[in-house]
This record gives sequence, structure tokens and C-alpha cells, in this order.
Amino acid sequence: MEKFCGEKILIIGGGASGMFCALKLAAHGKSVTILELSDRLGKKLLATGNGKCNLTNVDITVADYNSPSVGGVIGRFSPKRIIEEFASLGLLTRVDSEGRVYPYSESAAAALNVLLQRLNASGAEVVCSCEVTDINYDGKKWRVESTCGEFVADKLVFATGSDATSGRNSHSLISKLGHSVTPLRYGICPLKSNQIKGANGVRAKVYASIAINGETLMGERGEMLFKDNALSGMLAFRLSSALARFREEIKECEVAIDFAPDLTLDELARFIFDYSDVYRPLDGILHKALAANVLSRVPMDRSLIMSRKKAMDLAKGCKNFKVEITGLAGKSSAQVLCGGISTDGIDMDTMQSKICKGLYIIGEAADVDGLCGGCNLHWAWASALACCEDLI
Ligand SMILES: Cc1cc2nc3c(=O)[nH]c(=O)nc-3n(C[C@H](O)[C@H](O)[C@H](O)COP(=O)(O)OP(=O)(O)OC[C@H]3O[C@@H](n4cnc5c(N)ncnc54)[C@H](O)[C@@H]3O)c2cc1C
Repeated sequence: MEKFCGEKILIIGGGASGMFCALKLAAHGKSVTILELSDRLGKKLLATGNGKCNLTNVDITVADYNSPSVGGVIGRFSPKRIIEEFASLGLLTRVDSEGRVYPYSESAAAALNVLLQRLNASGAEVVCSCEVTDINYDGKKWRVESTCGEFVADKLVFATGSDATSGRNSHSLISKLGHSVTPLRYGICPLKSNQIKGANGVRAKVYASIAINGETLMGERGEMLFKDNALSGMLAFRLSSALARFREEIKECEVAIDFAPDLTLDELARFIFDYSDVYRPLDGILHKALAANVLSRVPMDRSLIMSRKKAMDLAKGCKNFKVEITGLAGKSSAQVLCGGISTDGIDMDTMQSKICKGLYIIGEAADVDGLCGGCNLHWAWASALACCEDLI
């Protein structure tokens, strides 16, 4: 069965970037069809931001991404522009203390609903439960094979995202056209470690840095969630990107935690010397499970006298607690796939393929990943807008 679409734009993938692209193009009178593997559009969006959907972040910079090649698109389609775009769709947003932007209702369903409503009204055609299995260009038209038959179109937008947590990796459809795919590794996920004992579920506001093969790559303040076999929470998720993006052989990986980032080493040592209980010297400073972990690492004499040296050793233990990382938690708990269709083969201003004219690659399908905190959805919207600008 062949469905001839005439002067048509076909979008493969009905996730964040594909839906946004479709409704913008259709609103400009373009004839658009979305082909989506799943039985409905935007399933992943509902899971984002713990169900609240962190749409973008007002503090986004190019440095939040794996590659400076995103600079043109991020510069043109800023967080302010994305907030305005969603306002024009009828979605009111709010910004939290860390710059993260959410639907005002703090409900991902609200974001998905406005996208679906506008998409319905735009006249874009949607074909769900339709897996694209092959893509060919016959010199004039794109011919797309799918489980729902063949579709023919003038322009093709590839918006297949990734299989991080859920979804499908469909990079091979594009690699056969000459695009290369960079090595894939799941990011924005817990960092595996079994070095912290008895603190499962404990959260602490710390400063932490990650070092790979002895070189510190990134360090930030934030909230760490300690699990029996992993470091988790927003801070660990952000640090995990450094590991997921690392392309060379990983010989060792270590996270150094400062449990008292508001105090200098001397201030903390003085506090311990002046005030701490000699039996349980860290109980007034850290959660008791974390205090036990620090104490277990600090060589202490057994005397019941708090010396300046003992206080300094304890302070050092609190401010430089090293945790060996054995890996990333992997696909089932990852928010993003690092790697994808190489940006070398994409015009990063328009998102058009440099190899196949009329083919656009947007969203997470491209080798673009941002840090946890709204950067990846921002990229989905912004790259869709860049593509639309070229197609309109
Ligand atoms: C649990 C979780 C929480 C997250 N939270 C946030 C957050 O709060 N903020 C943030 O910025 N980012 C977040 N992300 C990341 C963000 O959701 C993704 O980066 C974003 O959805 C990517 O959009 P996309 O359109 O490129 O791809 P996707 O959303 O993955 O959509 C791709 C679509 O293509 C379809 N598809 C794939 N292959 C085919 C095929 N062969 N034929 C037809 N259809 C196909 C898939 O079924 C899918 O619907 C989160 C991710 C996860 C997993």
C-alpha cells in the first residue's frame, strides 16, 4: 500500500521534537504527517521532570551541552523564546530557584495536552503504531517504508530520539544514507558505587566533583541522593554526563564530595575542635549515616581528647570524601543517550543533513546531549524551531 503525500513533509517520531516541529509547520500551512512507532504521541514527555516536565532552563548556556556546535541554534532559540512559544500555545510556566522552567501546574500532562490540542487543530496528520523500517531517496522524493505501508514525501524530518528509559534507537535508518553514528552511552543516570554504606535514601546538599583518569572534569553544588549501590539525585545526574560523554578508555572514575561546602577547612576544623562531642564528633554536622561513613575513613586515636590534629583530620574527611565510581546505571534509569547521529554531517544552523538534501535531523537523534535541568527538552524544541525556520 503506497500513500502518496504530494508536496509533503514527513516527520518520523512523535516525541517532543517531532510534535513541536509538526505543529509549527502545519500552522504555517505546510502539509505534514507524523509517523510514530508507539500507540500515542509524546509518551516520554509524560515521564519528564518526575512527571512535572522541566521544559527548559533560563540559565542554559552552550557549555551545558556536549558540543559547541549547538551554539547557533541555542543562541537563536533562547529559553525566553521557548517560554514565549509555549505561552503562545496556551501553556503558562513557572521558574524555580535553580532556573528550571515547568508548566505552572507542574504537570507534564499539561504540556503534552497543549501540544496535542494545537497539533489536532493544525491539520497535521498523525499515524500512530507505525514503525518506520527503511528510508530511501529516489533522487526526487523520499520513500519511507513502514509497518503501515510506504509513504512518499518531499522533505523528511528525522526525530526518533533515543531509547533512554523508553523508546527506540533508529539511527541505523540514517547511517545507511552515509551519516555516521558516534559511540552511544546512557547519561543523566545514577553513578554506580558501593562505597557508601547504610545511607540508602539519605539526601545532602554538598559540593561534588567528578574526576576521570585523575583529571577533574566537572564540579558543582547541589543535592546528592545516596543509594546502597549508587550516587543519585540531580547532582549525580549532572556529573554523570561527564562520564557518559567521555570517549577515551576509562581507567578510573572518582567523585569527591565536600559535605560542608559553606565552611572552609579551617572553619570546620575549628568548629569540631571547639564544640564537637568527642565520642560522636560529626553527629552535629552531618546526617548520622553519612557521619558514620566519614568516621570510618578517618584514622583516629582512641583517646577521649579532641586535639587540633584530630579536628583537622575529621574536617578533611568531611570536605574531601572520595567515592570510587564503577559505572553508569544504564538505559533503564537514564534520561538521555549520549552519542547519536554525528553533528559533522548536519548543518547545525538549519538541522539539514549535509549529506542528503531535504533530510533534517532534530532532537536527541543527533549527537547532542545537555546536562540535567531542562537542557535536553530545550534542545528538542530549539532544534525543531531551527528546522521549521528553514522549511517555512
Ligand atoms: C525519565 C525521563 C525524564 C526526563 N526528564 C527531562 C526533563 O525534565 N527535562 C529535559 O530537558 N529532558 C528530560 N528528559 C530528556 C528528554 O525527554 C528527551 O531529551 C526528549 O524527549 C527528546 O525528544 P525527541 O523528540 O528527540 O525524542 P523522544 O522524546 O525520544 O521521541 C522520539 C519518538 O520517536 C519514536 N520513534 C523512534 N523510532 C521510530 C521509528 N523507527 N518509527 C517511528 N517512530 C519512531 C519514538 O517512539 C518516540 O516517540 C527526560 C528523559 C527521560 C527518559
